[in-house]
Amino acid sequence: MKKFSLLAVLFGLILFLAACGGDDTSSGSDDGGESASKDQLIGVAMPTKSSQRWVDDGNNMVEQLEELGYETDLQYAEDDVDKQIEQIENMIVKGADALVVASIDGTALTNVLEKANEQDIPVIAYDRLIMESEHVTYYATFDNFQVGVLQASYIEETLDLANAEGPFNIELFGGSPDDNNAYFFWDGAMSILQPYIDEGKLVVQSGQTDFEQAATMRWDGNTAKSRMENILSSAYSGGETVDAVLSPYDGISRGVIQALKGVGYGSGDLSLPVISGQDAELASIKSIIAGEQTQTVFKDTRDLAAVAVDMTESVLNDEEAEVNDTETYDNGVKVVPTYLVEPVSVDINNYQEVVMDSGYYSEDELE
Ligand code: BGC
Repeated sequence: MKKFSLLAVLFGLILFLAACGGDDTSSGSDDGGESASKDQLIGVAMPTKSSQRWVDDGNNMVEQLEELGYETDLQYAEDDVDKQIEQIENMIVKGADALVVASIDGTALTNVLEKANEQDIPVIAYDRLIMESEHVTYYATFDNFQVGVLQASYIEETLDLANAEGPFNIELFGGSPDDNNAYFFWDGAMSILQPYIDEGKLVVQSGQTDFEQAATMRWDGNTAKSRMENILSSAYSGGETVDAVLSPYDGISRGVIQALKGVGYGSGDLSLPVISGQDAELASIKSIIAGEQTQTVFKDTRDLAAVAVDMTESVLNDEEAEVNDTETYDNGVKVVPTYLVEPVSVDINNYQEVVMDSGYYSEDELE
């Protein structure tokens, strides 16, 4: 056995030396392109498996990176900030060549990115901007302001706010205050809703109209459910009904729907309000089909992964990646060059075309 392994080592050595010495045969190819992809390790840090979109994101990243010959280290931190930092530290120790990070708390990674930089490991921010660090090379995301516009425009059109007399009651939910995206969704939505609130056509019976009041820590559906229950018992006990709910994320929408159903919405003549969402999660597509959630925003994670993979290859090859926004995403230290993918509004009328016919979900998954 020993003899055999010695031979194997010798054979390997000969191959290695031959590969190193064989430069006269490869004179035509500069090795920039070849050197980048093979045997390099890409660390992919994702926030949580509890939301389906991140599971899809992680799988798409791994699939696309491995197809190009990269090795991958995919980690989920279950929304625990310290755990995510530890996972990124481990990737650095393992010798990752690049990191792709969807942060939990965008402001908590300054120190760990400093460590990555000391090892010359480039970092791509995935979907969520990493704040307060100069060591973010690129940002791959969707048009986050537009997501909010799509959600609010859907409410505007469904209630026919431009023409109807109203007033209508609306309650507002925001995303996680430690996620930069949450502010973009909110601002996009408010760019549509605020004028109607100002003129009194939309009334927020709870009076909770600031982002800070509406925010939902870690996008948690149960937190949103409790907040909706409190609002229903404190601001709707006199017979008022909720006509619309701005929700920034499907998990929040489903929590809010549970609270509404708990006090009788969706049965008898008390119909559920128009309620927005985001991510086109399978559970919410089913909810839309069942006539409960009204709308969601589809973000094709296959496309986002393709952008992030392209950025990763570019930084490893010392090339410039394609970006389409160099102004909007200031992380407090610098404006990070960004590629924005277009989000798509989905409801009962187009879910078939957008998420089924495109192959994002299969008919079996809908069962
Ligand atoms: C993402 C959304 C997602 C939310 C909750 C945001 O950063 O952009 O797509 O709904 O996090 O996971």
